[in-house]
Amino acid sequence: MRYRAILLFGAPGAGKGTQGKILGQVPNFIHFSCGDAFRNLRVDSPLGRVFVEYASKGQLVPDEPTIELWHNSISGFIAAGRFNPEADTLLLDGIPRNPNQARIMTELIEVKAVFNLFCPAMDKLINRLQRRALRENRLDDANVETIRARLETYKRETRAVLECYPEELIHQIDSTQEPLHVLLDILKIVARVPKPAVSDGNTTFAVKPNA
Ligand code: ADP
Repeated sequence: MRYRAILLFGAPGAGKGTQGKILGQVPNFIHFSCGDAFRNLRVDSPLGRVFVEYASKGQLVPDEPTIELWHNSISGFIAAGRFNPEADTLLLDGIPRNPNQARIMTELIEVKAVFNLFCPAMDKLINRLQRRALRENRLDDANVETIRARLETYKRETRAVLECYPEELIHQIDSTQEPLHVLLDILKIVARVPKPAVSDGNTTFAVKPNA
């Protein structure tokens, strides 16, 4: 079974995490941030060390361990009863992050919508990332060179992910707006995404069991 998924897409600093955290509070939506999954690893674990090595240079962690981390995390969510693949939709933030990851994940997820949080103003992104560095203890936000390297990685490797999905699934969201207005734009579209056939206790059944 492929998991239902909505992709939150955009450059570092575009606001994927901010929106993902809020949307993840809506019943039947489960937020997964790939960057957070990496940051939650112990830095002295084998993958934790690989993460620090790449992230501190603004580069992507290699695809295979990244997909494995994602897969293990989602399996953990299921085992813990946090994610019910029959009823819930994953909000994926930061994965897939290059066309190869998108290709590998076609067998694992069914993408229902892609939100492209676009931001034409590079200096705005740099500003946001620098402010975040003060709030959160993030080694990859620490200096302008690393930030620039991450924005370059985004342009060189990540942006092409958009070409992996049909145009009708991609929704352009102006991420230079205030978070509330970004959220409103996303919600209007999410509300129109067809629900799974069967939902859980919190919500109505699109198809009633035993009906
Ligand atoms: P941002 O949204 O600011 O780019 P993230 O928290 O999503 O930051 O990611 C931080 C770092 O974690 C990335 O720069 C990269 O090194 C690593 N990372 C996160 N997701 C992936 C992924 N899907 N593939 C490879 N590396 C990733």
